Amino acid sequence: MFENSVKAYSEAKEVIPGGVDSPVRAFTSVGGTPPFIDRGEGAYLFDIDGNRYLDFVQSWGPLIFGHCNSDIEDAVIKTVKKGLSFGAPSVLETELAAEIVEMYDNIDKVRFVSSGTEATMSAIRLARGVTNKNNILKFEGCYHGHSDSLLVQAGSGLATFGTPSSPGVPADFTKHTLVCEYNNIENLRKCFEESDDIACIIIEPIAGNMGLVPASSEFLKECRELCDKHGTLLILDEVMSGFRASLTGAHGLIDISADIITFGKVIGAGMPVGAFASTKEIMGHLSPDGAVYQAGTLSGNPVAMAAGLVSLKKLKANPEIYEALNKKAVKLVNGLKVVANKNNIGLQVDTRGSMFGYFFAEEMPTNFKEVTKFCNFDRFSKFHHEMIKKGFYFACSQYEVGFMSTVITDEMIDECIASADEVMKDL
Ligand SMILES: *Cc1c(COP(=O)(O)O)cnc(C)c1O
Repeated sequence: MFENSVKAYSEAKEVIPGGVDSPVRAFTSVGGTPPFIDRGEGAYLFDIDGNRYLDFVQSWGPLIFGHCNSDIEDAVIKTVKKGLSFGAPSVLETELAAEIVEMYDNIDKVRFVSSGTEATMSAIRLARGVTNKNNILKFEGCYHGHSDSLLVQAGSGLATFGTPSSPGVPADFTKHTLVCEYNNIENLRKCFEESDDIACIIIEPIAGNMGLVPASSEFLKECRELCDKHGTLLILDEVMSGFRASLTGAHGLIDISADIITFGKVIGAGMPVGAFASTKEIMGHLSPDGAVYQAGTLSGNPVAMAAGLVSLKKLKANPEIYEALNKKAVKLVNGLKVVANKNNIGLQVDTRGSMFGYFFAEEMPTNFKEVTKFCNFDRFSKFHHEMIKKGFYFACSQYEVGFMSTVITDEMIDECIASADEVMKDL
């Protein structure tokens, strides 16, 4: 069933580290061979063995309209014919920026980059440049890309500076990164007592990189208040939740105002795009207007901008999409929960717009430690494997979330729940 992928994987491993260009694709946490993908079509992925999968990963979030949406495809092809890149300004950048500015009250200007990693890294530099402070505060279990100062794990004890979570990151580079427990107000306050040199808090307001774990509104409110009190900027990392949880991401669901917002994923509709955005005062510190340096040869690439522009315009013209997507996400996870209960398996589920999460756990986790402690990872792996065999492509780690797209139908969801029922009998 997977012969061609097995062969392709071993050939890839000869010339690419681990056979992949981003580690999660190697299926390390669930084991087995990742299917090598030949093409996508609507709600489905097809691998090089001809297997078809209903796609709940959607390139890890960007493809909210599924694969090969004709509007996006047409815009991309039209733009490609005019040249791939100019390294000079194009009006497509202004148009996409204007779309975003119009959606958010607290955004006047947007700078485009090519990935979420770049967006958060640049947003942090900007926050430091604006505040003249050195430290940053992040939360355990939130992922903001792979730049040095963000690859940290919590040190021993609470409210401590982080230690590098990867070789190759000098401890000196992470000594300015405070790591705090998500959804823990007391811990957060303690961090601010320990340091008054905090340039920014960076947070996933709806965490999607430890499974789906939303921040409580009290917690976000506390983040906002502490930032205001200490002259610290609040960066909401909406690389995943932006245009996913709602048209305005977490902002649309929770009453919170960020100083800087970072975007990625949906904003590029499958092309490499990231962005960070803020008020004109804060963005005025950015080069060439200001002194904080940031740049990119392919930033604002016209083809990528064209894809993002069509995608955001479609979302904006049809804001009811989010209610429909959420309905389908709820239908899926509630269905999974019913068949889990029937088979005496503990399953905790939640959704935010088109994002959904399911934990094989008896209790709902609210932070990273609880995800690690509460979840049955063996059960997750088996479930993942068996669902792949039945043609359902879920994220290959308990620390990831699932995504609903506009092209997934109720019938497809019913089929998925029926298959999950069969799989759970043997979990
Ligand atoms: C995916 C993600 C990133 C990193 O984006 P890349 O494009 O993979 O560099 C940053 N923050 C969050 C919240 C993400 O989900």
